[in-house]
Amino acid sequence: MKQLVILGSTGSIGLSTLSVVDHNPEQYQVFALVGGRNVTLMTEQCEKYQPRFAALDDENAAKQLTDNLKQRNCKTEVFAGQKAICELAAHTDVDMVMAAIVGAAGLLPTLSAVQAGKQVLLANKESLVTCGQIFIDEAKKSGAKLLPVDSEHNAIFQSLPPEAQQQIGFCPLAELGISKIILTGSGGPFRTKSLTEFSTITPAQAVAHPNWSMGRKISVDSATMMNKGLEYIEARWLFNATADEMEIIIHPQSIIHSMVRYVDGSVIAQMGNPDMRTPIAHTMAYPNRIYAGVEPLDFFKIKELTFIEPDFQRYPNLKLAIDAFAEGQYATTAMNAANEIAVEAFLNEQIRFTDIVDINRSVVENIAPIKVKQIADVLHIDKLARELAHQAVLHY
Ligand code: NAD
Ligand code: MG
Repeated sequence: MKQLVILGSTGSIGLSTLSVVDHNPEQYQVFALVGGRNVTLMTEQCEKYQPRFAALDDENAAKQLTDNLKQRNCKTEVFAGQKAICELAAHTDVDMVMAAIVGAAGLLPTLSAVQAGKQVLLANKESLVTCGQIFIDEAKKSGAKLLPVDSEHNAIFQSLPPEAQQQIGFCPLAELGISKIILTGSGGPFRTKSLTEFSTITPAQAVAHPNWSMGRKISVDSATMMNKGLEYIEARWLFNATADEMEIIIHPQSIIHSMVRYVDGSVIAQMGNPDMRTPIAHTMAYPNRIYAGVEPLDFFKIKELTFIEPDFQRYPNLKLAIDAFAEGQYATTAMNAANEIAVEAFLNEQIRFTDIVDINRSVVENIAPIKVKQIADVLHIDKLARELAHQAVLHY
């Protein structure tokens, strides 16, 4: 039995992970569940999975959880706060950690699992966006196995030769005959909407993704295509790819989840229905395969696959992210922090959809460039960028 910690168990990825566990109860034991503040769902999850430990970031929520579990005679021991969460992620009895806390809040717990040398199922893309080099270096040092859960990166991973899969973060692409990493994206819900209507887009419209069901933050990121920008950064770190080795293609059906182009003219793609349980199950069972509960792909229902070049006028956040990577780690960290604040403000109806990119850009331009050497530098830039973004929101 593999002992599994799920960071972010009450979220969209967390629920899909538990669904894969439900299909394979003889192989995985839930060792610990971790969430932010959702007491009701965490209570239900603890009752059902009886983990040894549970933790919530919010102290009051954790107290409430303790009371709930006592009433229900559930033996799960409850902790509160980030320090406890980091300790659970690094516990000696743990084999694998699903890193699915949303946003920069996932940084330290994910890093803790990496430093402890765990098999890390990496959903939290913000870890690599803000600390790419630190994560790759720490994984190399500890021997942690980084397995990408993000569907695109998982597809790329699956399309790579085994030698490359063993060298995540430092694989010599050209030496292995790989010419391009092809990142695909659906183009989100506004792929064909008139640009003149973008400023009136509502949160409800933005979170309604045509193909994928996801958390609110990442759904807005998919609509602005900041999500593809974050994924571009994530891909450059994971696959050690240069700017010239990256290609981005809009593929509205989300059936091909990304591809790898080889020098001999071959292109290898991974396909499937858009259901996160496929990449999650792949990372849980790697290098084996397990049943994930996903509908088999029906090619006759799909009928056609189409491909479009990305338009930076429609998706300025994508261009911002590509440029930020070229600028350096400080810029991607600042952009990520600004975007979290801007998306939250948009969801709270404080700013318009089109203001998100303006806030992101102004924060990246106004933050003082520093060389990121350690996690403290990242946390410092993250904090400054959030302050700048909060100030910017007040001007709208
Ligand atoms: P979500 O909003 O549905 O869930 C987030 C989870 O994080 C919840 O369990 C929440 O309680 C927890 N959380 C929030 N703040 C916390 C804190 N401070 N401490 C501890 N836990 C906290 O988000 P999601 O869609 O499941 O996405 C999770 C991560 O996976 C994100 O980084 C996202 O970019 C990435 N991802 C998601 C998908 C997807 O399909 N949903 C796909 C690829 C990557
Ligand atoms: Mg993705």
